[in-house]
Amino acid sequence: ETITIQELANRMAERAVDVIRLLMKQGEMYKITDVVDADTAQLVAEEMGHTVKRVAESDVEEGLFSEADAAETLRQRPPVVTIMGHVDHGKTSLLDAIRKTNVVAGEAGGITQHIGAYQVTSPSGGKISFIDTPGHAAFTAMRARGAKVTDIVVLVVAADDGVMPQTIEAISHAKAAGVPLIVAINKIDKPSADPQRVRTELLQHDIQVESMGGETLEFEVSALTRQGLDELLEGLALQAEILDLKANADRAAEGTVVEAKLDRGRGPVATVLVQRGTLRTGDIVVAGSEWGRVRALVSDIGEQVKEAGPSVPVEVLGFNGTPEAGDRVAVVENEARAREVTEYRARQKRERLSARTGGATRSLAEMMRDLKEGVGRKEMPLVVKGDVQGSVEAIQGALEKIGNDEVAARIIHAGVGGITESDVTLAEASNAVVLGFNVRAHKEARESAERVGVEVRYYNIIYDLVDDIKAVMSGMLPPQL
Ligand code: GDP
Repeated sequence: ETITIQELANRMAERAVDVIRLLMKQGEMYKITDVVDADTAQLVAEEMGHTVKRVAESDVEEGLFSEADAAETLRQRPPVVTIMGHVDHGKTSLLDAIRKTNVVAGEAGGITQHIGAYQVTSPSGGKISFIDTPGHAAFTAMRARGAKVTDIVVLVVAADDGVMPQTIEAISHAKAAGVPLIVAINKIDKPSADPQRVRTELLQHDIQVESMGGETLEFEVSALTRQGLDELLEGLALQAEILDLKANADRAAEGTVVEAKLDRGRGPVATVLVQRGTLRTGDIVVAGSEWGRVRALVSDIGEQVKEAGPSVPVEVLGFNGTPEAGDRVAVVENEARAREVTEYRARQKRERLSARTGGATRSLAEMMRDLKEGVGRKEMPLVVKGDVQGSVEAIQGALEKIGNDEVAARIIHAGVGGITESDVTLAEASNAVVLGFNVRAHKEARESAERVGVEVRYYNIIYDLVDDIKAVMSGMLPPQL
């Protein structure tokens, strides 16, 4: 690791000529463009009265997302909620209905605008934030990028349709992320509604609702008639209380981009959900490989605000480029630091991309290596998709049996149907391999698996599938199919 004399001088805010002079005294001649190694650089810096913090490239990120806040600085913060469930079960309708409960007609700036997240007030006065891109794809894509945004998942199940494949998927995604669920049994206004059936079906997927003696809160609602919405909001407030969600508002802000776009008039616009600290206009922020000085903050009702605290979503104007949803946001001390971080990340991104095209994937082989290197009982995360329920269950049963003292299969999701993009993101977020039995991956899923480096393996004989996994566990992997 080396650094040029010029760069070294810059970082110390000293003149390069003084650095050269000092090195000369030690008997060495340098030009401004010459490089010195890290040890020499440290000696020079200390000689010139600077305290040295050695920053390896990999440490560039260090301190960005700083250590835990002291307990006495923590205050209660609103919960952040994501709505998930099967298509057409009413996720969008519910998000709209909840939002409308709060828009007081005629209120200044009361024109709602879609910025990717919004905040409402529950009947008893507590605030609740909703991510308003429904669905588990967005949820897990964010998680795959290391962003933990959601505190509570509302699982929407249509009372006239019951538990469907994407309901099960949503349960798997929430479980894999370790996020608690609240069930909203929607479309209760329909004559064909059968909420009891929903409860029983959920039971088959390890979700035991309160009225069945379990711990999962459940609410019968209608996005259409608004029945049960207040109760649902109170339920969320209650769940939040149980979770004891806290953050320090009095520090430099950190958060996550939930949505971003390039606006014709306003330039790059990113909706940031603040997670700790308070974001203010004038702050210098980094998000992924972009940075900027916050020019303006716009709330979810279109009002300009000066600051945004924990769990508050705001549009941030002033980025030099458009960050991506899922990028983590941090306020840094100055522009130089912002450049250092974003340039480092841009370089990393390029390197990662070229590594990917070189065929680097997280394969069963890598998984085996990880398992070998680890200590204690290891888990081998798997996503299993099959053509019929019977075979999926048979595979699950067989995989659960083959574990030993050192390693066990952990099936993070099993379902019927082709391999979807959502399966791939889930696998990515959990470092899992996807196993397809008598099914193929959809085109988008195949492309996405290739892009993010998730291995997908296909089988048509259960014995072969189980045998492969057994082989991985015992450290003898057959060649890739
Ligand atoms: P999403 O795909 O989960 O976002 O579902 P949508 O919100 O788009 O709703 C799908 C359909 O169900 C739409 O035609 C809605 O009008 C309808 N719908 C949603 N909620 C309710 C409800 O509570 N009652 C009735 N009767 N229809 C609903």
